[in-house]
Amino acid sequence: MKRILLIHTGGTLGMAGLRPRVLKPAAFFKLLKERIPELSGLASFELELFSNIDSSEMQPEIWSALAKRLYARLKHFDGAVVTHGTDTLAYTAAALSFMLPGLDKPVVLTGAQRPLREVRSDARLNLIDAVTAALQGPQEVTVCFDSRLYRGNRVRKVSVSEYDAFDSPNFPPLGVLGVETRFEKGWHAKGPFKLKAEIEPAVFLLKVFPGLNPEWLSSLLPKLKGLVVEAHGAGNFPVSKKWGRSLEGVFAQAYQLGIPVAVASQAHRNGVDLSLYEAGQAALAHGAMSAADMTSSCALVKLMHGLAHFENPAALRRYFVANSAGERG
Ligand code: ASP
Repeated sequence: MKRILLIHTGGTLGMAGLRPRVLKPAAFFKLLKERIPELSGLASFELELFSNIDSSEMQPEIWSALAKRLYARLKHFDGAVVTHGTDTLAYTAAALSFMLPGLDKPVVLTGAQRPLREVRSDARLNLIDAVTAALQGPQEVTVCFDSRLYRGNRVRKVSVSEYDAFDSPNFPPLGVLGVETRFEKGWHAKGPFKLKAEIEPAVFLLKVFPGLNPEWLSSLLPKLKGLVVEAHGAGNFPVSKKWGRSLEGVFAQAYQLGIPVAVASQAHRNGVDLSLYEAGQAALAHGAMSAADMTSSCALVKLMHGLAHFENPAALRRYFVANSAGERG
């Protein structure tokens, strides 16, 4: 029988206390054995309690610890399933995809919108599907949810309470788990399996909005190691002098301080093109990098990861604009 490592990090899937009480982390593995005994017919499992937190408590340092744990344990298994809250699952999946280059086994993240102990829970099918993907799916970091398998660094959470909680706007699913299961080949990793778990958390994700006053940012910038600007559309932001709210000065100040800036988009489909408009040209003139079709959460995580691994600004830029784990087109 194939061997699967099941690492629990927390999330609604393992919580107790649905309305009128509040949902809180609860004992998970006993419940798992009671609710889905047939899992033991699919594979031989080792269950590991890594943490038991609401995923809004996740931190970059915890991604590193999780990557280290997976790197140390995976050689004894055919694949891994990581249970995780849905709120920040997209960030963790992206982080693992960068921290485990050359991954040669499936690592499948899953969670649920409704706890496993509830009758109408989606946890049961998500877990069975995630195990199926860990046994038969592509050898990369993926997210299994609502009968679909997605590339981990391409997903975003799109629903608070419906069961199709994730989508992958710029990359097709890597698997469909319906009556039949079908999986794509997935990312073709170059080079051997390595651990690159360092992370620089001092990166800010700035959402551009009408009324944003650049003065608010001038004292923030010196505290940062990197900045991701989530701009409008193709990478737009105000550059007109009329209202005193041009953001061009933010790019200029960051450039002067040696802080790398990446531009992502608030639009979910397609990608940033900094050559299209005046604002994009201004960003380029101040050394900004395009996040292309990466999600902004993925761009944030990639910049945090790149900063920890590349001291040289040119090397960091090369890393950021390259496709290293299937995260950008
Ligand atoms: N707040 C929960 C979490 O992310 C939501 C979920 O798991 O669906 O941990």
